[in-house]
This record gives sequence, C-alpha cells and structure tokens, in this order.
Amino acid sequence: MIVVMRAGVDWSAVEEVKKTIEAEGLEAYVMVGEERSVIGVVGQGVERVAHLASFPGVEQVMRVSKAYKLASREHHQDRSRVKVRDVVIGAGAPVAVMAGPCAVESREQLTATARWVKREGATILRGGAFKPRSSPYTFQGLEVEGLKLLADVREEVGLPIVTEVTNPADVPVFEDYIDMLQVGARNMQNFVLLKAVGRSRLPVLLKRGLSATIEEWLMAAEYILAAGNPNVVLCERGIRSFDTATRNILDLAAVPVLRERTHLPVIVDPSHATGHRSLVRPMAVAGAAAGADGLIIEVHPDPPRALSDSEQSLSFPEFGDLMDDLRRFEYLRQPSAASSAPGGQAPVIVPGDLERLRARIDDVDARMAALLEERAELAVAVQQTRSDGDHGHDVSRERALLERAMGADGSVLLPEEREQVFAAIIRVARSAQRRQAATVAAAAADRAEGVTAGSAA
Ligand code: PEP
Ligand code: MN
Repeated sequence: MIVVMRAGVDWSAVEEVKKTIEAEGLEAYVMVGEERSVIGVVGQGVERVAHLASFPGVEQVMRVSKAYKLASREHHQDRSRVKVRDVVIGAGAPVAVMAGPCAVESREQLTATARWVKREGATILRGGAFKPRSSPYTFQGLEVEGLKLLADVREEVGLPIVTEVTNPADVPVFEDYIDMLQVGARNMQNFVLLKAVGRSRLPVLLKRGLSATIEEWLMAAEYILAAGNPNVVLCERGIRSFDTATRNILDLAAVPVLRERTHLPVIVDPSHATGHRSLVRPMAVAGAAAGADGLIIEVHPDPPRALSDSEQSLSFPEFGDLMDDLRRFEYLRQPSAASSAPGGQAPVIVPGDLERLRARIDDVDARMAALLEERAELAVAVQQTRSDGDHGHDVSRERALLERAMGADGSVLLPEEREQVFAAIIRVARSAQRRQAATVAAAAADRAEGVTAGSAA
C-alpha cells in the first residue's frame, strides 16, 4: 500500500502517518520527493491502515495488491476448475450449459424440460425452488417441495442440479437435495448468505449484483473463498442501465476482464441479461465467443404459460437451435490447428496425370453428394420413426461420430478439419429433420382445422 502526501505538507503530518503505520506492526518507508513525500507500507494486513486516507495532509492511499487475495490471479496463475458432480466447468473444458425453467412449477414441467435439455446437450439442470421475486404478490416458488422435485428429476434424468438459495439457514436442506448453490443477483452482497455458502461443501454459482462493480463482485466471491469453499463460479447476468430495450445490459467485457483478474470460472446468463426470448440465442453464442466457461439458459415447455420470466424463456425447439449454434461455435473454438501442421504423412495419392486426378476428384464428389443425400434421408426417416414431436437426433451418437472423426489416423486432414466436416453433415441432417417435423406439425394443424370446420358445418 502506498500513502501519497499532499504537496508541501508539514513534516509532522508525515511523522504522524509513519507512527500510525508502525503502531499497527507494519513497516513504513518514507520517500521524500521535490514536492511531496510518499510512504510505502509493507507487512501482513496493510488494510488495517486504509483509514490513513482521512488523516491530515494525506492526498490518497493506493492499494498495490488486490483486496481479493484468494480470488485474484496474482498468486494463482492457473485457472481453476469447478466440478458439479461429474461436470467440469472452466480452464478449457467444453462450454458447460446449465438449462431449465426459471422456476420449478410441477413434476411434469421439470421432467419434460430436463429430458429435452439433456438430449440437446445441456449438462446441468437449473430450476428455482425459492424465487427472489421483485413483487411479493407473484409466484414465490415451491420451496422445499421444489427441491425434492429437483432431486427426483436428477435421479430420473441424470443431470446435476443448480438452484438458488436465499436464506443462510436453508443451506443444510439444500445440501440434502441439490448439487450447486446459486447466490442470486439480489443477494450478491448478502454477506451472511455468502459466509453460509462458503461453509458448504457444495460448489457455488455467484451471480453479479444488479449494479455491482467487478471489484465488488470479486470481493463477494472472496467472502465465499475465505469461508473455506474454493468452488466458486461467477455468472455475468447483466447490469442496470438507462436503456429499457433489454431487461439489463449484458456486460460481455466482464468475461475477459475477469479472465485477467481471477482464476475462477466465469459463465454468462443471456436470459436474465436480455429479458427477451429472441435475444437469448445470439447473446449465448456471444458469451461463448467472449470466452465464457459456461452458459445458463431458461427453457420452458410452454413459455407463454411460464409462472416466471415467461418472456425470456426459450421453447424446446428454440433451445435446440441455440445448442446447434453453440456446437457450431465450439468447433471453431477448438484449439488452433496451427500448432499441429501435418508433417510426415504419406500422401495417399501420388501426383502425376492431372486429367486423371481431376476425374477421380469429380467421381469422389459425385459419390459424396449421393452419400450426403442418403444420410439426410436416413436422418429424416429416423425423425419419422420417432414421430413424437422430438427431433430425431441423438446427442451422444453425434458426439461419438465427432470423436471418431477426430481420432482417425493416417489422413492428410487435421482432426479439427475432419471434425468440422462431420459437424456440418450433422447440422444439415438436423435442418432436414426440423423441416420434416414442421411439415408434419403443419399437416396435423390443417387436419385439426378441417375436423373443426367439418363438425361446425
Ligand atoms: C435466476 O437465475 O433464476 C435469477 C433469479 O437470476 P438473477 O439472480 O440473476 O436475477
Ligand atoms: Mn428467471
């Protein structure tokens, strides 16, 4: 810490500052300049003399090291990873998607959502049981009943649970049922709650306060770390502004700023940040592009009827589209291929007769076009076979295909390049499946209309 004296102050003011520092068991180094003196403070707990700022003759007191020692990267260069059951968040792990309804409303609502988001690739289920609503007259959540439903659905569907805790006294009950404690924006500086979750064995998702600075947010994280819980994930969820076009302003720069200042993982909540369904998908991808370690997204089986945050909740197909976008983005984010230039691989085809080589390329292209059609037709047939309104794709099979593509040896293509090709094939098959599902739904709607018109006639 550095104490800067005003220009031309009496030497006695400098002496007084020095004495106060030494009385606290700290060391004071006085540097006398042409115009002013500066005093360096060294030792453990320099914060004890922060009050020197109000001493006579003192211009300012400057902190040299960060006040958030445990959250800071200063003494912890390696990025931390936080585990929620088996799901890893941070330090280069794939973007972790937490998804689910704003509030737990019923077993049916939660189960259907959990199944859907899992199939689309989400790895953690969200859902509020204790809702910190701005109005006391709106739905407040199912409380402990909601926690029990979350625990049941976790067993049934197999996704770990994140949910918000609002009362320090409730932490032990949450520990019985769920896997990650969320501290909501409205409670970011509820220091009693921060200490309580800091004593828990569960990881904590700490949302940014409605108008909190990054420094205040990191200090809130420090409370949890200092209480003994190292597993903190920060969540940027938008801050207040003058603009009413979006619910909040999504501060995406917070992601790289935090990356510089803290080792803790950072995720983005585009749902609460924007407040509008149509804005969630682009800002989710933007969050990932800014370097977020994860996303938290609100999804509901019937968004217009959601008991809370209906305007920002995504329908199932909308969430599917978002996950498609995100996968597309993840392929780009893969570690750059630059460091593994293909060397020493035997060419499969020997250069020679140009005409002949080009003819073979034309032949391969024609075969690939036919195979692409065949594959898309098969995907649509899968969709027709399921015919339960779901998309026909199976995330785990797709992942296995991409892993096989990455693992294949002896190719002149880089694993990343092969993966991108297969990812594109998966995408077009999905598009074909979606078109098929939409056609079936439209035909069913037409039939229903015909029946109603017929019976009315
Ligand atoms: C929530 O995630 O359900 C929530 C209430 O978010 P926030 O605390 O960011 O408003
Ligand atoms: Mn919500």
